This record gives sequence, structure tokens and C-alpha cells, in this order.
Amino acid sequence: MKDACAFLGPGMSRIEKLEEKVHGKRRNTETDELRLGVLLNSDTKDNTNNSSQSIFYAKKKQPMEKAQWTGIVTSVALEMLRTKTVDCVVAVGSGEADARNPEPKLCFTEEDILACRGVKPSLSPNLKVFAEIETNPEIKNVLYIGVGCSVVALREVEQYLGLDNLYVLGTNCADNGRTDGFYKFVNNATDKPDEVLHYEFMPDYKVHLKMRDGSYEKIPYFSLPAKELSSGVIAESCKSCFDYVNGLADLVVGYMGVDYDESIPMNLHPQYVTVRNERGQKMIDLIKNDLQITPSTTRGDRKPFVLQTVISDDEAYLGRGPEKGAPRFVGNLIAWVLNKVGPKGKEFGMYSLDYHTIRNYLYVNRIYGKERAKEHIPSYAMKIVEEYEGKNGDISKRLEL
Ligand SMILES: Cc1cc2nc3c(=O)[nH]c(=O)nc-3n(C[C@H](O)[C@H](O)[C@H](O)COP(=O)(O)OP(=O)(O)OC[C@H]3O[C@@H](n4cnc5c(N)ncnc54)[C@H](O)[C@@H]3O)c2cc1C
Ligand code: SF4
Repeated sequence: MKDACAFLGPGMSRIEKLEEKVHGKRRNTETDELRLGVLLNSDTKDNTNNSSQSIFYAKKKQPMEKAQWTGIVTSVALEMLRTKTVDCVVAVGSGEADARNPEPKLCFTEEDILACRGVKPSLSPNLKVFAEIETNPEIKNVLYIGVGCSVVALREVEQYLGLDNLYVLGTNCADNGRTDGFYKFVNNATDKPDEVLHYEFMPDYKVHLKMRDGSYEKIPYFSLPAKELSSGVIAESCKSCFDYVNGLADLVVGYMGVDYDESIPMNLHPQYVTVRNERGQKMIDLIKNDLQITPSTTRGDRKPFVLQTVISDDEAYLGRGPEKGAPRFVGNLIAWVLNKVGPKGKEFGMYSLDYHTIRNYLYVNRIYGKERAKEHIPSYAMKIVEEYEGKNGDISKRLEL
């Protein structure tokens, strides 16, 4: 099991080899697949039309109470159990000491699945349920719900689990952390840290803190104390991660590329869906009559914003950023301007992905050295870094600081 870990041995570069095994093809690095991963319908260089069948926005016509967004993930899981497509579902429920802490669960009933609604905002030790699956002869068909790094490990051991069918429903994921990192973040971000259920860094350049009473506190990124938060919040693994898009899942649900409308609360807002293969299509088809589906859209040019974000973030990491975040009204003003002129929809998703790729490239090279970085970082991520390197060597120069 240890050998399967996404951060040991070949590290995240193993995704490229596994992609072919899981989806029957590798990502086409001449198309959007370079960033978004393998898509069921995308084989051509100009994949704008094809990819829209595999990447789209969707929301539940009847949003599910207590879900993170409208509950697409929980609805697919419920339907797979109801139709007996699977015997059980691996999902993440709540820990005993604090309901906000994650605890992986094997769900055999609808009640079990409903109890796992919503994101518990820290790293979940999902690998521990694999052993239970392996030793229980009753379990032959499984739906696994999880973030990219756990799916990489699952795909490495899949053949040893003795299953007839494995379905993987992934979520997009970036910047997760240990539970102490969650507490540090909320203690620094708000006056009511005990009230925060979870938070999401949203496409309106604000972090949305969901409170226990259902209300949201929205803080512009620029008003957070970046220097203080630059350590001890995001886990080292997440700063070494190159799988924001969950490339080895069959179906992925997130929000990174939605055309975010801030007048609509998260739990009523369309989500961002990626279908990677026929299994993923079968899974989303199970609930398609309950969904309102719209094509994905894109607007703006992410490139200048990516470099700017990398530089200001890296200055904070190097301890050279401002001591405090901007006052709220200034932060809100910057967020408002960026919403007007910055990237939107799919282009925003790619802005976020490019920024995380470059930030993590710098981190891995600095902390683990060039040789380990070469082994660990997938070639698709290196291609993205090279796009920003330019004639001036903008990225390499930061490694010299
Ligand atoms: C840790 C984490 C970070 C995320 N970060 C991003 C991001 O940066 N960008 C983006 O676009 N989307 C991200 N997402 C996805 C997004 O927040 C929603 O999960 C997704 O849109 C599904 O919403 P839903 O209403 O369908 O979920 P629900 O129906 O409420 O289901 C949520 C599911 O999440 C699972 N879950 C809960 N906590 C965890 C955990 N700690 N680890 C693994 N699985 C968990 C549960 O098993 C549950 O089935 C993240 C998700 C997680 C779990
Ligand atoms: S950011 Fe990457 S490493 Fe961190 S929890 Fe998410 S998928 Fe795993």
C-alpha cells in the first residue's frame, strides 16, 4: 500500500502511465486535455465542441439539503446503491471529536451515504478502508468517492482488491490541509472560528466561510494575512500535488470552471462536471433527469493574472510580503475589478490550475531538489510551467531567490 502513495517512488508522474490503463488513452497534450485530463469526447486538436459534451455545468433541479453544492455527488452515490449497481460506497463522513474532521466510511445504506454530505475541510485517511474492502468477500462492486491523491493510490492497488467493478467519483481538489491547518486558517480568517463548517476559495476571488447557521462570511483573498497563512495551513502533500482535476476518476464534480454568479448561493449554484470515460457517463446518466445541464463557457485571458498571482504568493512564501492583508473594502474593490476584467468560467478554472501548477513546481524543486522534482512532476505539468517560462526565464528566476 505504501508503494501506491502519490508522493513516494515515481510520485505524481505515475498518473500518466495509469491514465492509459484506466481510460484506454492518454491525455492529448495538444488540446485542453493537457490541463483538464482525459475527456470521453475529445480527440481532436480543436476540441471546443467535443469537450463540451464531457465538460459541462449541472445543478440538481431540487438541490439536496446539507450538501456542499447542490448534491450531485451524493445523488449519484444514492442512485448507484438504489439500482444495486454497487454493494457499497466509500465516502467521507464526520469524526467523533469534531464533525468538521473527516472520517472515511464504508456506506451500505442510503442513510450512511446521506450522513457523508458536505466537505470536511481537511485530509481524509481514505487508504484505511481499502484493507476492509480487500478482506470482505461480500464486497464485489464499489463506488469510491475521493480526491485525486487518494484515487492515484486506489488505481495502483485496484487490481489487488478482487473487485468485479470499481467506479470512481472524484472531486476537484486543491490546497487541502491537516486538521491543525484548518484551525489555523479559520482562527486567522474570522472572528467566529468555531462557527465555520467549511470554506471554499471561490471564483469571485473571495473565500466563502460556511457557518453552522447556514450563512456565509465572504472574505476577499487580498484581505487574508497571506504571510501568516503561508505556512502551517496547506499540507506539504498539497503543495506537491499536480492532480487538481482528479485525472484518474471516471467522473469528476467540482466548481473550478463554473461561470460563478455571486448572487446565487453555493448550494443552489451550478457545479462543474467532467466525464472521463464510459463508466463516468453511465454514472451521471443515472441522475440526468434530476439535473439542469448547461454548456460550459469561457471568457478572458488568464495568462497575465497567473504570473501576477504566482509572484505575490511566492513573495509571501519567501517572507517578503506585506504583514497584513488589505482592508476589507480595498480587498472587495480589487475582487470586484477582477470579476469584471479577469478570467471567467473555464478560463478561470485554468487560471487556478496554472497558478497551482507553477506554485507547486517551485515548492517541489526548492524542498526536494531538482532530481526528485524531475521524477515526481508529470510531463503535462512541466509543459504548463514551460508556457510561462518565456524568453526571460520568469519561473527559473524565482528558483534563484
Ligand atoms: C477536500 C476537498 C477540497 C475541494 N477543493 C475543491 C477545489 O479546490 N476546487 C473545486 O473545483 N472543487 C473542490 N472540491 C469539490 C467541491 O467542494 C464539492 O465537493 C463538489 O462540487 C461536490 O459538491 P456536491 O454538493 O455534489 O457534494 P455532496 O453531495 O455534498 O458530497 C460531498 C462528498 O465529499 C466527500 N468528502 C467530504 N469531505 C471529504 C474530504 N475531506 N476528502 C475527500 N472527500 C470528502 C464526501 O464523501 C461526500 O460524498 C473539493 C472537495 C473536497 C472534498
Ligand atoms: S490538493 Fe492534491 S494532495 Fe492535497 S488533498 Fe487534494 S488531491 Fe490530495
